[in-house]
Amino acid sequence: MAELELDDVRKVFTDDDGSDIVAVDDVTVDIEDGEFLVLVGPSGCGKSTTLRMVAGLETVTSGDIRLGGRSIVDQKPQDRDIAMVFQSYALYPHMTTRENMAFGLEESTDMADAEIDERVENAADLLDIPELLDRKPSELSGGQQQRVALGRAIVREPEVFLMDEPLSNLDAKLRSQMRTELQRIQEDLDTTTVYVTHDQTEAMTMGDRIAILDGGELQQAGTPLECYHRPANRFVAGFIGEPSMNFFDATVEGDRLVADAFEYPLTADMREAVEGADGVTLGIRPEDVEVAAAGSAGDDEFDTVVDVVEPMGNENAVYLGFDGDMSDTFVATVGGMRRIEAGESVVARFPSDAVHLFDTTNGDALH
Ligand code: ATP
Repeated sequence: MAELELDDVRKVFTDDDGSDIVAVDDVTVDIEDGEFLVLVGPSGCGKSTTLRMVAGLETVTSGDIRLGGRSIVDQKPQDRDIAMVFQSYALYPHMTTRENMAFGLEESTDMADAEIDERVENAADLLDIPELLDRKPSELSGGQQQRVALGRAIVREPEVFLMDEPLSNLDAKLRSQMRTELQRIQEDLDTTTVYVTHDQTEAMTMGDRIAILDGGELQQAGTPLECYHRPANRFVAGFIGEPSMNFFDATVEGDRLVADAFEYPLTADMREAVEGADGVTLGIRPEDVEVAAAGSAGDDEFDTVVDVVEPMGNENAVYLGFDGDMSDTFVATVGGMRRIEAGESVVARFPSDAVHLFDTTNGDALH
């Protein structure tokens, strides 16, 4: 069993003038045996440091990391049954694919040559690169080099794969192809995997679960759909989804939310959820805003004017301003076939079952 547990893991660096930088702030997350967990968050949120602590390339300041129930924080990196794949492929330029893949096993184990050969051939089959085994890195494309780097990790048959932005040097098309490929390989091998990316689309499409970090703190760990539909806080809500969720700060007045440009009726459930909150932020995803031709506006509908239309392929991102107050524009996505133009008056509806409410002070999800 290769369950990987991070238990209150903390990393504090000291910078040149002696002040502390909390890179990872008491992160607790369990990664099940065979699970594909994506660690995602903006630049500097502590993803790489977390991964490096699991790999043993960085010490932990406090907390524990267990693999299969046993603490590994005191083990040297080479004694941990973990293989890491980096963004830079770091292949040896003078070695062939076969030699690059075999090198680690030859150096760090007393495995027989025949077994090493077999593992290399199997990994090459899995990665669909058997015909590249005798080429040097300079004779390989970026995507092929990335496969070799992956092959080097696979031949070790580790308990855990750690991947730090492994696809970020590839162009968009190859990246999306390799995403699918990586998922297939991970499913075939059933190896516990922690994958780091700053790209929320990559996280949403690849992870069995995603763990979202901000400022070194774990914001939420859950399936991509849980994080999308039930974000734990405003940060997660804004980070997951493209274009980002719209937010409007408001106050509660009786059974209504009062924002700068509109008032929104609260359902009984919502009223209960917002009780005691000083300020409430209403969130609605662009894909949940319903846009209709101008007409009579109901309680959850608003007269708006189209500011800008941004084509996104099969959809348009339509930026709307409230009639009479264009300062607070928000975005709705509508089907690309629909004709909609700047300056047009439309009605935007925020359906109550798609509205998220957050505590404005601490960002926690209320509803
Ligand atoms: P990115 O996506 O940009 O790679 P990240 O989420 O992987 O970012 P980390 O590299 O883990 O973030 O860095 C987390 C924080 O710790 C940052 O503020 C960074 O500046 C700081 N940090 C990382 N390594 C060190 C170090 N060796 N010494 C001092 N501070 C460091």
